Amino acid sequence: MHDSSSADCNASNPAADAERAAADTIVAIATAAGPAGLGVIRLSGPQSLAIAQALGGIAPRPRHAHYTRFLQADGEIIDDGLLLYFAAPASYTGEDVVELQAHGSPALLRMLLDRCLQLGARSARPGEFTKRAFLNDKLDLAQAEAVADLIHANSAAAARAARRALDGEFSRRVDALGEALTGLRIFIEAAIDFPEEEIDFLASDALTQQLHQVQQLMHALLADARRGQRLRDGLHVVIAGPPNVGKSSLLNALAGSERAIVTDIAGTTRDLLRESLQIDGIEITLVDTAGLRESADVVEAEGMRRARAELARADLALAVMEVGREAEQKQPLENELASVPAVFWLHNKCDLQEPSDSLGDLFIDLPKDSATDPAADSPNPSPTGANRSLHFHISARTGAGMDALREALKSAAGLTAEAVGSFSARARHVEALRRTQYALEAATAALASGEGELAAEDLRHAQAELGEITGTLSADELLGRIFSSFCIGK
Ligand code: GDP
Repeated sequence: MHDSSSADCNASNPAADAERAAADTIVAIATAAGPAGLGVIRLSGPQSLAIAQALGGIAPRPRHAHYTRFLQADGEIIDDGLLLYFAAPASYTGEDVVELQAHGSPALLRMLLDRCLQLGARSARPGEFTKRAFLNDKLDLAQAEAVADLIHANSAAAARAARRALDGEFSRRVDALGEALTGLRIFIEAAIDFPEEEIDFLASDALTQQLHQVQQLMHALLADARRGQRLRDGLHVVIAGPPNVGKSSLLNALAGSERAIVTDIAGTTRDLLRESLQIDGIEITLVDTAGLRESADVVEAEGMRRARAELARADLALAVMEVGREAEQKQPLENELASVPAVFWLHNKCDLQEPSDSLGDLFIDLPKDSATDPAADSPNPSPTGANRSLHFHISARTGAGMDALREALKSAAGLTAEAVGSFSARARHVEALRRTQYALEAATAALASGEGELAAEDLRHAQAELGEITGTLSADELLGRIFSSFCIGK
């Protein structure tokens, strides 16, 4: 925890260098607010040792736990506890670090903190310890973010994924892709330098193979990062469908409350309703959208605009239709949901179905997704398969079919064997990877038409996007935003 392995990626810009050089000594209570058995105060910076000596009345040895009394300026005892000193650079931040373990009384910890401030430290800003670790090459940016993700992980799976990202698993994958891109660039730029042979070079099998390999790495990394983001952020599920099919009732049934207003007047849900569910500790955000239909009503039209914006960032859509009306309701929904990675088709109000309407007949009447999607309607769909499409017969009113739906949501959220090896990732990472992928696609197209210069430029662009993930090319503003979202003391 204290001597994390160093990563060689780092921001190198004048502002960061200045911040490194001007480092003062920071202090914070590192444990959560409120009474507890123990409380930890953490100091980092050049004065940490002097402050520890004045406070504890001892000259601590690095990496030894000293039991001592913590003293006020006049010698009054504030508390007794452990004092640990980590000499630079073998510490969490790379600077001299001191940790004081005292009793976890908020009043007492405040006194200890004040004493440190009196001795010359200043209060740390949120995430400032980890920011220093980043600036001192102890962690790259993706690892630093994993520290915050680990602290906030709300399930064992999310904690394991954050731990793996902190260990550098995500960063190593990003670096491997970066190296593969470098290999490609070297090849192409060499070709450009020998214009008379350029065309042969660009059409060679070696280049095609290399490009194929990079694309595979890119594809796998993006898929894993998306899964990692789901583990971290939870699954973003949007409920969509025409008015009055039971969307609000479904939200209520899943959330187990009367959150949404249920009426039989079309167009009741004009704004978005959000509800967070936890299934085995995995967060699922459910968003109920305005019925998707053309409307002259300004408020309702705004509701639909928001619904479409939600769909654009959904991991999964629950497409609700009314049993018996699928023929008219499915097609418009298919168009709206074309860009959503996975869709569960819900045939609601199955309690109204005549006993003679067997489910089998219903499926035969429907246009089968399986014509275009091999995973469609399969009993064991791949949780990561593109365009996943499953059908469920449910009744939001009676609860019929709801258990199967919950199970499917759980597996879609990443609670599957596939999540075991994943690392945590953030929307920021997924977006950067997507931009990398676009640049790579542009390079591929440029190569196909023999435009080496353009391809080289696209690949440079791809590498720059990738560099944002680990922080090799991060702007100060980005760093500020990332670290300010941390808790104080980390
Ligand atoms: P929304 O406009 O799609 O959000 O639909 P609502 O949830 O407001 O429901 C519209 C109407 O359908 C209400 O009268 C509900 O009580 C009714 N309804 C919803 N789900 C079911 C169901 O599973 N079975 C039956 N019989 N009625 C339902």
